[in-house]
Amino acid sequence: MPSRGSQQGPDGVTVTFAGSGDAFGSGGRLQACIHMEPNGPVEPAPVLLDCGATSLPALRGCGLDPGPVAAVFVSHLHGDHFGGLPFLILDAQFAGRTAPLAVVGPPGTGQRLTEAMECMFPGSSRVRRRFAVEVTELRPGGPDAVVAGVRARAYPASHPSGAPALILRLALGGRVIVYTGDTAWTPAIAEAAAGADLLIAEAYYWDKAVPHHLRHADLAAHRYELTARRTVLTHMSADMLGHLDQARFETAHDGLVLRL
Ligand SMILES: [Zn+2]
Ligand SMILES: [Zn+2]
Repeated sequence: MPSRGSQQGPDGVTVTFAGSGDAFGSGGRLQACIHMEPNGPVEPAPVLLDCGATSLPALRGCGLDPGPVAAVFVSHLHGDHFGGLPFLILDAQFAGRTAPLAVVGPPGTGQRLTEAMECMFPGSSRVRRRFAVEVTELRPGGPDAVVAGVRARAYPASHPSGAPALILRLALGGRVIVYTGDTAWTPAIAEAAAGADLLIAEAYYWDKAVPHHLRHADLAAHRYELTARRTVLTHMSADMLGHLDQARFETAHDGLVLRL
């Protein structure tokens, strides 16, 4: 396939849903882990969007090496979204990584990551490593952060997780990707997704009301407000997976690759 627009700088992103599941393995799916690799003349490093506890097997199962991942963008501090970080960091340590690893998440990310590492692997947060773990905390409505070549903006999600939960709008490789994380419907979703190339939206249940989560019914009711070019559903429970053939949007599965 000919490459596109190589004189015009960064051009395109390959998005792989390494993990497209909920917290509980519904449908045999792995927890949230979306791998994004900008394709450009300079080939910036890949980054992750969320890093659930099962992220290492999710990535390796897709043939993706976690070693070059430059940054992890975390929507919120629930285990199925950030619980893979201790494994990712220890794996990098044992693999002799030297390049810094950036972790971008909501306020409280630094402390919660230290606590998670100490809980799961005592002493691991204090060990001397050959690479730095550089935490950037993003406030909903706060200024953009530019990390690993990605411009990140956070909008407020409605999802209690011991810290503010984020809807993330990321610009990389000349594309804009918006991710709801877990959240009840909020107008911030439409605001964040305005004009994006891809909206990755939670669709936890089909139409049953559950607190703090999005349903397919919410997205369908608000579909005319969602102006992203493409919307792909993820984080689906067994209930939602039972309605895939009726979904009004594209749906993710583990291993789905999109080229934007
Ligand atoms: Zn959550
Ligand atoms: Zn979740």
